[in-house]
Amino acid sequence: MINIHNWTANEDDPRDYLRKPFELEGRLVATNGSAIISTELKGAKLPNAQEHIAKTLKKYFKQLQNSELTKVDLHQCETGEFALERDCKECDGEGELTFENAFNDYEVECKSCRGDGKNLETNKYVVICGLHFSLEFVDLLYYLNNLKVVALEDKLGFEADEGSGFVMSIRKVTEA
Ligand SMILES: [Zn+2]
Repeated sequence: MINIHNWTANEDDPRDYLRKPFELEGRLVATNGSAIISTELKGAKLPNAQEHIAKTLKKYFKQLQNSELTKVDLHQCETGEFALERDCKECDGEGELTFENAFNDYEVECKSCRGDGKNLETNKYVVICGLHFSLEFVDLLYYLNNLKVVALEDKLGFEADEGSGFVMSIRKVTEA
């Protein structure tokens, strides 16, 4: 059993159409934009996929169907750490903070990011089929049975008992 909500975008993601699963060609599809799974619909009534997503995903799944997949043991894959640039949480990526009281308005440089608006976070990566993936998304694959994978350009295609789908690779890996 998979928890489909682990595959959808979370509540604070601006792409509200990714926060819930949708239907694509008679299957249930869930994605957070970086990992995608297509699984049995099991009678659920879901909205149809947005047109632009449907178009891309149909292309992806066709590519997967025409590929030869091989078994993989994720526990044997090379791992490492990479630096990831994220918007600063204190200032929301603005680089400065504003305060006001009864006397004045204040604008100050954010101390967390020194005014850059960005912070470097350390994340783990996993190497599969020669591509680098964020462990955050590969984590979802550890729960699948009879996992088989294939590298498809910048993404990993997979098939398992629970469903099939993709994980997007990290394009540029900066070692932490
Ligand atoms: Zn900041």
